[in-house]
Amino acid sequence: MEFPNDACPHNRIERITHGPWLNVANPARSGIYTFINLEPGWTYQLRKHFFNQALGRMDYRIINVRTVHCNTYFARFQTRDLIFYLRQSDVDRISSSNLNTWMNRMQLAHDDMYHLVGRRGVAGSTTIRSTRYIGAAGLSGNPILIAHANVTALMDDITRHGCWSFVVLHELGHNFEGGAWWTFDTGAHGAPSTREFAANWMVAYVMSRRNATITRYGRIYVGIAGYRQYFYATSGGSYRNVFVHNIWDRNSYAHRFSGNALLYTFLSIEAQIGWEPFRQTFRYFNTLGSSTPPAPIDRVNLFLTRLRDFSGGRDVIGMMNPFSRFYYGLRFGGAGWAIRYV
Ligand SMILES: [Zn+2]
Repeated sequence: MEFPNDACPHNRIERITHGPWLNVANPARSGIYTFINLEPGWTYQLRKHFFNQALGRMDYRIINVRTVHCNTYFARFQTRDLIFYLRQSDVDRISSSNLNTWMNRMQLAHDDMYHLVGRRGVAGSTTIRSTRYIGAAGLSGNPILIAHANVTALMDDITRHGCWSFVVLHELGHNFEGGAWWTFDTGAHGAPSTREFAANWMVAYVMSRRNATITRYGRIYVGIAGYRQYFYATSGGSYRNVFVHNIWDRNSYAHRFSGNALLYTFLSIEAQIGWEPFRQTFRYFNTLGSSTPPAPIDRVNLFLTRLRDFSGGRDVIGMMNPFSRFYYGLRFGGAGWAIRYV
């Protein structure tokens, strides 16, 4: 790319793929810049900052750069609702039958999540794409992005353990969480732990229906029992640490909340009432639209009330540890708010 020659010391060039703009040249001098390590079949944006003489101030231009797709680099696969772009070097690590089994399992997971919540977050096909530039193991949306290193490790985990992939399932789960509709967030301020809780809840249904195998930090978890154990004892902010041993975040009273402990709370309710009341509660929330209660505490309480109703009157709040009820009231409502039926 060429850069304007106006001798301004504040000229700079940045680029973005996902996340923040990255400085390429600051200050940038006039001339030709060459970008390396770009991946085939991807769109990059460049942002040129320069002094705009006509406006009399700094200005910028955004340039989209589409790199050419390269079939020898990425292999494309498709199931009914999913399109996969995987590096050929990763595909070469695994037998085609194992790879097909895994992709069909991801399709089953997609079907399960739809079966659980009764609505899709993405219209049409969802692309799952291996990529270089993300600041996380995976990112939800369409495309779902999974970092190359995780895809490489996954191919080996599929071969060794028949894994389904927690990372892919989790990002797929985000696509079904339906905005703020039952994550108990207002959406305005963001509360990452409950979004993660919602995505992990979708994964729970797949673990339960398919007796799926996943690995987390080098350990293997099988089926809903393994998944429950992970959130009870092993995960960061586990239920055991938060509500049994009370060692989580002991210095921060108001922030004593963990989406992972909340997940275990819901899993322990599910173990007693089954999935059907949850499926019906999601469908009830789907019908609310703009009449969804705006306050998180009211959403939690409405959700638990409908769970009670759809489980034939089972006292689901009574199934919760009183200590956890107190903190959920504090976390979702504030001081003086309680978890209760509405
Ligand atoms: Zn997430």
